Amino acid sequence: MLEALGERLGAIFDRLANRGRLNESDVAEVLREVRVALLEADVALPVAKEFVNRIKEKAVGSDVLTSLTPAQSVVKIVYDELVELMGGAAARLTYSDAPPTVYLMVGLQGSGKTTHAGKLALRLKEQGRRTLLVAADVYRPAAIDQLKTLGRQIDLPVFDESQGDPVKIARDGVAEAKRLGIPTVIIDTAGRLQIDDRLMVELEQIKAAVKPIEILFVADAMTGQEAVNVAKTFNERLGITGVILTKMDGDARGGAALSIHRMTGAPIKFVGVGEKVTALEAFYPDRLAQRILG
Ligand code: GDP
Repeated sequence: MLEALGERLGAIFDRLANRGRLNESDVAEVLREVRVALLEADVALPVAKEFVNRIKEKAVGSDVLTSLTPAQSVVKIVYDELVELMGGAAARLTYSDAPPTVYLMVGLQGSGKTTHAGKLALRLKEQGRRTLLVAADVYRPAAIDQLKTLGRQIDLPVFDESQGDPVKIARDGVAEAKRLGIPTVIIDTAGRLQIDDRLMVELEQIKAAVKPIEILFVADAMTGQEAVNVAKTFNERLGITGVILTKMDGDARGGAALSIHRMTGAPIKFVGVGEKVTALEAFYPDRLAQRILG
């Protein structure tokens, strides 16, 4: 992931390193190239612009122009800004003081909601927290079967009422977890191929009914800026608390990873790196920035 951006930035900074002292127009040229590299990685335009402006401001106030190793100074500024852009410190899941802790998975169809409900449940199980998975995606019967199969695979219970009302299913699922003393509930909801108002209203109703402590927006990294636009809309309607960026094992250019936090204010909490139920990683902005800058 983000290899192409890493290579582009690497080439820009290598050229810089060979140049010795820098003047202001050298810096301006480098920043122009960085901006193009970001846009080619599918970073949202306002994000790329703001990013470059912040670097420019920092560079002016630092020793970049007087340093004997200006390239190193620039790389350090870019690194710090990349970490900041992706949310700074790693964000963790929140747990509810009054169990059960309820997490709502939302996003477009095919983004990886069902798969990541299972991955998350397994992750929590490994930490000693049991989860009840709730199948509230009633429009796609295959989604219920998929969740049941996942539940069997990771040996966790799945609550379903087949084709009933998703709001009622969510509410009943939480009541069932309470009854069984299961501390965590993950609700898998329906998605559509595109945002539609009925889906949003339904999600708002589920939110009101079960008051999830986290609304996790599941975004397909391969869809780049489109994922960011969809995230914005979901955030406006539902107030998302975190993002799970999926399919980062593919050749996603990286725009979503770099833009989604700035465009929504919500941190990326996990990344999906494969189809297997174990293919989930916590998201560390500093590690990804390091990887990008080699
Ligand atoms: P949903 O419609 O949002 O519930 O999406 P699914 O969970 O059914 O996932 C859609 C497809 O994407 C499935 O074929 C998954 O195996 C695949 N998928 C989900 N997450 C990842 C991931 O992180 N990496 C890869 N390579 N495939 C994934």
